[in-house]
Amino acid sequence: MILDGKEKSKKIRSWVKQEVEQIQQPIKLLVILVGNDPASQIYVASKEKACHEVGIDTQTWRFDANITQKELIGRIRQANEDNTVHAILVQLPLPTHLDEKQVINEIHPWKDVDGLTIANQGKLLNQMKGIVPATPLGVMHLIDEYKLDLNGKNAVVIGRSALVGKPLALLLLQRNATVTIAHSKTTNLKEIIKQSDVVVSAVGRGHFITADMIKQGAIVIDVGITRVFGKIMGDVDYQNCLDIVSYITPVPGGVGPMTIATLLENVVECYKNQL
Ligand code: NAP
Repeated sequence: MILDGKEKSKKIRSWVKQEVEQIQQPIKLLVILVGNDPASQIYVASKEKACHEVGIDTQTWRFDANITQKELIGRIRQANEDNTVHAILVQLPLPTHLDEKQVINEIHPWKDVDGLTIANQGKLLNQMKGIVPATPLGVMHLIDEYKLDLNGKNAVVIGRSALVGKPLALLLLQRNATVTIAHSKTTNLKEIIKQSDVVVSAVGRGHFITADMIKQGAIVIDVGITRVFGKIMGDVDYQNCLDIVSYITPVPGGVGPMTIATLLENVVECYKNQL
């Protein structure tokens, strides 16, 4: 069965729209974009568009790639103190002369819409209410939409980034899955995948998970995105896995739309944090 992120994301967007209407106050996401990376420009434009569709205001501060660490931190502090800004997103990656972790941790945790500050990461680790990164939270919403029970299941998360792999592993653990985190140095990845009832891939290598690796009846969630001649490709060979899996996310139309919808939900959460 297909885990339809497009459909579920529509429901979340319409919930966000209703929330925004009920709040009856302007809600604003501030995006900080440093440099001219073309992919970042596209991501920012799609976030702005999604916000406008549900009535969330956006503002984008564009800084030259040469901005200093001190200057950038100064601007984040300014945004923290601005009561008209409810959520702050620093578009990653930053140019290499900037210390990404330090910059992110200058964002006030209440306004940290990506859930990447140490404060929000710590809350997730401790199962306290905080802002959870949009992609992992979106995956969990999709799992919940289809009422998938993870209790006692063997799950593998392939990828260990702070944005996707690690938080996803924690969220699956909270649902009582037995979680393995795999990465580029994992030696027996094929065997681990073959034994897994739940496979979540967040690597970014087109179709590197093939049908022969998947256990019969597994749940497969494909976070990966690779662009090949302008087309988007997932980590999983979707077509050939369809007959083997019990549930699978397509790419596009699976986790991607969930990420955007959950980001909007996080903006509303940030607003509520500040009430
Ligand atoms: P990332 O920081 O580059 O992490 C990739 C992870 O994959 C790393 O942990 C890396 O291991 C691991 N890896 C690389 N090659 C591997 C291999 N051969 N076997 C096993 N693991 C391997 O990327 P990310 O930000 O987590 O994103 C992952 C993917 O998801 C990307 O394709 C990205 O575009 C996509 N993404 C999609 C959405 C969406 O909405 N659908 C949202 C966010 C990200 P090491 O740690 O050892 O290097």
